Amino acid sequence: MNILMVSSECVPFVKTGGLADVVGTLPKYLKKNGHDVRIIIPKYSVIDGVKYNLKTLPYRLAVRLGKEEIYFRIKQGFLDENIPVYFIENMRFFDRSGVYGDDNGIGYGDNRERYIFFCKAVIESIKAMLFVPDIIHCNDWHTGLIPAYLKITNAYDGFFWKTSAIYTIHNIAFQGSFDAATSVPLAGFSWEDYKSDKLEFYNTFNFMKAGIVYTDIVSTVSPTYAKEIQAGFGNGMEVVLKTRKSDIYGILNGIDYSYWNPETDNNLAANYSKQNIENKILCRKDLIEICNFENGNNSFVLSCVSRFDNQKGFDLIIDAINRIQNTNIKFIILGSGDRYIRDTLLYLQNKYPETVKIFNKYDENLAHKIYAGSDAFLMPSHFEPCGLSQLIALAYGTIPIVNKTGGLADTIYDFDKSKTPNGFVFDLYSGESFVEKIKYAYKIFNDKTAWKNLQNNAIKCSFTWDKSVKEYEKIYNIALKRKINSTIYR
Ligand code: ADP
Repeated sequence: MNILMVSSECVPFVKTGGLADVVGTLPKYLKKNGHDVRIIIPKYSVIDGVKYNLKTLPYRLAVRLGKEEIYFRIKQGFLDENIPVYFIENMRFFDRSGVYGDDNGIGYGDNRERYIFFCKAVIESIKAMLFVPDIIHCNDWHTGLIPAYLKITNAYDGFFWKTSAIYTIHNIAFQGSFDAATSVPLAGFSWEDYKSDKLEFYNTFNFMKAGIVYTDIVSTVSPTYAKEIQAGFGNGMEVVLKTRKSDIYGILNGIDYSYWNPETDNNLAANYSKQNIENKILCRKDLIEICNFENGNNSFVLSCVSRFDNQKGFDLIIDAINRIQNTNIKFIILGSGDRYIRDTLLYLQNKYPETVKIFNKYDENLAHKIYAGSDAFLMPSHFEPCGLSQLIALAYGTIPIVNKTGGLADTIYDFDKSKTPNGFVFDLYSGESFVEKIKYAYKIFNDKTAWKNLQNNAIKCSFTWDKSVKEYEKIYNIALKRKINSTIYR
C-alpha cells in the first residue's frame, strides 16, 4: 500500500506532545510490514535542516489562499534512513520560534491561514512528486481540510482515483474553529459546501468537522476515548460523530520501546532492566541531586512530565501539593504551556522548596531522567485520549497514579482491582480522590515487597505498535475496498 502520513509534528524533527511520537513511530511499523509509507509535515524553523540533512527538492509550487498565491518549496529528509519525510517550507508561515504559539502558550493569530496553506500544499506536493497514495492518513485538526479537499475540490481529480482518507483524532479539544465568513472563501470552498451536514459547525468553519465528515474512516487513539467522544466528552462534536457512528474505530497507541528503554537509555545515571531493576534507585539519587533536594534519597518521588494544560488535571496536582505536607514526599514536575498553571506551580516551589521542584521548559533528556528516577507518575487527567506518558512511566518501572478516563482507563490496572496491577486508578475526578490515592500509594511504597511486585508488573507491560499496526492496516483495507467499489460503480 502507498501511505501518506500527514501531521503537524513528528519525532525526532519536531514535537510538542504525543502526536509527534505516534507519527514518528507508526510509519516504522508500516514500513516493516512492506508498505511504501511517507510522512509530510511543515518545515518549522525549529527543525534543524543541517542536523537532519534536509535537501530541497526541485519543485516550485504555489497554492491559492483566497486571492493570494503562496509559493512554497519541499524539503526532504528521512526517518530511520528509509522513510521519506517531506517538509513544506514557507517562511511566512513557519519561521517562528514556536510551533503553534509563543513561549507563553498563546496561539499564533494566523494559525487558520497556516494550516489551510499546509493542507493545500500537501495536496499539491504529492501531485508534483507523483506519489499516488492509497491512503492519506490525516491527524488532528491541522490536517482536517485534506479529506474535504479530496471529496470536494479534488473529487474529479484523476490523480486521486484510488486514494482514501483516514482521519485520526488525537485530541478532540483542539478543533480549529474559525469565523466562517472569511474562512470559507479563504480555504477555497463555496457557500454550497457550508451547510450543516457539510462544513458548517455552529456557525463556524471547523477543520475537525471537515475531517470527520469527509474522511472515509475516523479513528481515535484508544477504545475508551472512542466511546467517550460520542457520549459527552466530544466538545460539541457528538452530533457530528453520530453521523459516522459505524465508521469510528478506537486503536490504542503504542510506544517505541527501542527509544524508551531503561536498559540502553544513555540519559540515565545507571541502566536497569526488567530482569534487574535494582539500579533504578541510582537514577532516583541522581534526580534528587538534580533537584537540589536535601536528604531525599529515600523519599517517595512523584513526578509529572506534561504540557501545562487544564486537560492534564493540574488543578488536582496543585491541590495535592498544598494538601500533602510530608517532607518525605517530593513533587517533581517538568512542563510548559499555560501561564496560570506555570505561575501557580512556581509559587508552590517557592512556598515548599523542600518538596517541590518545577522545571518550566521542554527538555527531552531531563524527561528521561525523571521517568527513570521517580517512584510514581502523576496523571490525573480530566480527559486523556490515549496518553503516552503513563506508558513511558511503566516502561521505566514507575507507577502511574491516574484518573480513570480514556486511554488511562485502557492501560492502567488498579492495585486493588486487578490481578496484575500496574498502577493506582481513581474514578471520581476530585482533589479528595487523588490525594487519597497518593497517600495509599505511599503506604504501599513503604511495603517493600508489594511495591517491588508492582514495579515488576509495570516494567513488564508491553504496549507495542505490533498489535495496533495490524488494526490500522485493517481500517486502511476497509477504506480501500470501499473506494474500489465506489469507483467501479461511479
Ligand atoms: P499529549 O500528547 O496530550 O501532550 P501524551 O501523554 O500523549 O500527552 O504525550 C506527551 C509526550 O510529550 C510524552 O512523550 C512526554 O514525555 C512528552 N512531554 C510533554 N511535556 C514535555 C516536556 N516539557 N519536556 C519533555 N517531554 C515532554
